[in-house]
Amino acid sequence: MPDDPTPLPPDAAAAGKEAFDIHEVFRRLRAACARLPKAAMFQLRDEGYDTPYEQLVASLISARTLDETTIPVCHRLFARARTPAAIAALDEGELISLLRGATFPEPKARDILALSRTILERHGGTVPDTTEELTAFRGVGPKVAALTLAVGFNKPAICVDVHVHRITNRWGYVSGSTPERTMAALAGKLPQEYWIEINERLVPFGKHVCTGLRPKCPACPLLSMCRQVGVGRA
Ligand code: SF4
Repeated sequence: MPDDPTPLPPDAAAAGKEAFDIHEVFRRLRAACARLPKAAMFQLRDEGYDTPYEQLVASLISARTLDETTIPVCHRLFARARTPAAIAALDEGELISLLRGATFPEPKARDILALSRTILERHGGTVPDTTEELTAFRGVGPKVAALTLAVGFNKPAICVDVHVHRITNRWGYVSGSTPERTMAALAGKLPQEYWIEINERLVPFGKHVCTGLRPKCPACPLLSMCRQVGVGRA
């Protein structure tokens, strides 16, 4: 696995950019994110909702739901039930009601009930810790599986959401046309010490600094190294 700093390509040198040093990037990201709200899964982890099961359920709830909604919905659910046995015992209507505010509460309630029962019946009450087994649960895709492995199990897994995909491509660190290709490129290049942390940093950074529309490049702490691929230079 190559380590940075990455040599400067001619166009970057011409634009007066520094070599892209991933370690320095993470130092600057940590400082920038210290003042920003945490990403939902990491906020919940730091509040003590850190078991693989809680992280799996919370990640599933967070799909297409704002962090500002996911966090209070998870607080409400986990105050009522926070283990496979406790959630499997809930009536579907009550679980739908507990999920109100999140997107698609009915299918998410059915998926959470089904996976809780499967965990009890086929996995001895323990969440499995492989991508293959996690994605076998209905409603669990690669992103939810990666978050569960990374935050719930503390296993090296890269969760590439819209923010990680957009920002690492803008940096010029990888060139991936889809989140899946970006994930594969990052797996071959990003030092493993940052696999879990990249999602923790780039979700808040992507919401507040390197935003989808009109990224705040002039005020960005990474401007001196970022190649700003696809972004008009400020
Ligand atoms: S310089 Fe601009 S494009 Fe690059 S990371 Fe910062 S905000 Fe994003």
